[in-house]
Amino acid sequence: MDRGMKELIEVSREYGSDSRWVLVGGGNTSLKNNGTLFVKASGYPLATIDSAGFAVMDRSRLAAIWDNTYPDGEDSESVVLRERLVFADLMAARVPGEERRPSVEAQLHDLLPWYLVVHLHPTLVNGLTCAIQGEAIAADLFSDDQLWIPATDPGYVLAKTIRGALERRSADGLGNPDYIFLANHGVFAGGESSDEVRRKYQLLEQVLTEQVTRNPGSYPVDAPIPANHIALELIARKEFGANACISFVRGGELDRYLATRKVAQALTGCLTPDHIVYAGPGALYLKGSGADIPTAWEAAGKEYRNKWGRPANVILFPDLGGAMIVAAGDKALANARLLLDNALDVAAYTESFGGPKMLQERFVRFIVDWEVENYRSKMTAKHLRR
Ligand SMILES: [Zn+2]
Repeated sequence: MDRGMKELIEVSREYGSDSRWVLVGGGNTSLKNNGTLFVKASGYPLATIDSAGFAVMDRSRLAAIWDNTYPDGEDSESVVLRERLVFADLMAARVPGEERRPSVEAQLHDLLPWYLVVHLHPTLVNGLTCAIQGEAIAADLFSDDQLWIPATDPGYVLAKTIRGALERRSADGLGNPDYIFLANHGVFAGGESSDEVRRKYQLLEQVLTEQVTRNPGSYPVDAPIPANHIALELIARKEFGANACISFVRGGELDRYLATRKVAQALTGCLTPDHIVYAGPGALYLKGSGADIPTAWEAAGKEYRNKWGRPANVILFPDLGGAMIVAAGDKALANARLLLDNALDVAAYTESFGGPKMLQERFVRFIVDWEVENYRSKMTAKHLRR
């Protein structure tokens, strides 16, 4: 195996299997080799990736995508159309015979000035990227060695934004940044070798750790469902189908977010796309106890579904002192819980950087619509293979 590919696999697995750096299927990595880009394909988690998990792209075709124009409206019709067109162009930029679906960030990986690129969603770093003072503190700590990108839609818009920012940097006589911080998302770093990437991430962790004034406390733990079990299970099934699974958790860091609707915003809003994808576009916050609970959930759940087109995975019950997590199947339930725990960690870290800054609803909407679109295209691909 080529030395570069070996390094890419090693570094991908190393960060991919450490939950401090990335969770579930998040993050992506790439390697440039002359005219070719090897970029993580979707459906291959970093933790277990091997050379079969990288889509092979033609860099000249990727670069040519910049010459195309796409609808730039912000209404959801233009957005959906733009993403479809860009996705088709991205697929067409694969080398002949390539069938894997490249990461939607393939175009961004291609334009970044590094041989090896590692993009992660680290918990501690997201304490900074999801914080009110994040941008100012990043500039303070890393000065011109970093580039801060305000919250934006992933994929084409993100790539275009970063492209513009890098061009402005070079016009100002600045070299390449060591870190590209993506507000409410994660971080990009890269280098000429995997050791260079490791050094950068090590330094980043060290510098941010020194800034932390409060480390996250313990996670909430399982507790018996303290209300009408049967009535709740019926609603869960209505919301998530026949294989709906429920768990109730309480205690730990969760306690801090139950007191008022205002403090609960760190959970009723969204911190990053990962939280939206795996734990839904924000938790519900429902007052009441005893017999009110099923009625309150049913009514609020309906409103939520009307708004987002999907049910809520996390329901905060301040009067019961905990949260219910609901999902279709065990795996989805485990992921929703993992991302709830992660939101508690990230929110705790944001306290060291001015407190949480949640994603604006317009960006949340993009991710929700995008998931639907993604699901549709996966189904189409399956259908075509038959
Ligand atoms: Zn990402």
